[in-house]
Amino acid sequence: MAALDYPWLGPLWRQWVAARQQQGLPHAIGLPWQPEAGSKELLDALVAWLLCQQPGKSACGQCKSCLLHKAGNHPDTLRVAPEEGKRIGVDRIRELQDKVWQRSNQSGATVVVIEKAELMTEAAANALLKTLEEPPEHNYLIVCPERFSRLLPTVRSRLTVYPLPRPSLTDIQHWLERHSGQAVTDPSLLSEAQMQPVTVLERLQSGIGVNNDICLAMFRGEPANVPDKGPEQLLWLDEFLRCLIRGARAAAFAQAAGQVSTSAEADQEWQIFLTTYPHLATKLPIWYDRALAIKRQLQGSGVNGKNLIQQLLSVMYMNSIQIEVE
Ligand SMILES: [Zn+2]
Repeated sequence: MAALDYPWLGPLWRQWVAARQQQGLPHAIGLPWQPEAGSKELLDALVAWLLCQQPGKSACGQCKSCLLHKAGNHPDTLRVAPEEGKRIGVDRIRELQDKVWQRSNQSGATVVVIEKAELMTEAAANALLKTLEEPPEHNYLIVCPERFSRLLPTVRSRLTVYPLPRPSLTDIQHWLERHSGQAVTDPSLLSEAQMQPVTVLERLQSGIGVNNDICLAMFRGEPANVPDKGPEQLLWLDEFLRCLIRGARAAAFAQAAGQVSTSAEADQEWQIFLTTYPHLATKLPIWYDRALAIKRQLQGSGVNGKNLIQQLLSVMYMNSIQIEVE
């Protein structure tokens, strides 16, 4: 796993290595689909290692299998993923079964992966059950749902599930600082990064909101600079949601203590803002819910959310200058 720089995933990897050395690596593996936490790279490394013809503690990177895998055309592996906005139908699972039962071309293992597995139709999940019940030898089936609770219990119970380990606060701080080249001390950012390290790093690298609370900036009347396109727009929304949480927390603190706290600088900024605009405190959670709903809409549909975001921002801004718009 040398190419992977997610140190907190190391213990999980070592667990797999030890299991494989004792011929104890399960053939039906459950791994969460959480690209925001490094699962994509982990999965790639795992598939390469299982296919490798001379695997050590990771894929050798040089054998024929490794080269085929790197080039993206290894004949003994198959990734099943839902098409945009669709479910995984039974025909895709049949395709997977053909792959599983055929003899491997490179006389090694066959590895099939189901991404976002909770999107399997019931018929697809039932078809998969058969393969899980009588797994052919020398193959691995890796099932990756966003949440295991959304899989059929009969499917879930046949998998050996490996939750992704989470980094400690210190680990994540060092990791973010090393990769972004900037000091990262905001506690709310660090705790978010424990859950979504990759997303937070991307945001830091893109410069969104690094030295500025984009929500407070909007209330000050500064241009919001909402990006036009998909992934950047989602990053912007994530940061905006984080700012709203910060605001809601500052509001709750002010209500409880009736004073300005000495916590993180940004939270103080919010507390000062809310002493000037106390009528906004109860609205922050409502706006948070709306922003979250917009995010969900964008994630599934590929819709451009700029208009939706701008509408929300203008409602917020109008409220801050006390013009009743809703
Ligand atoms: Zn190899």
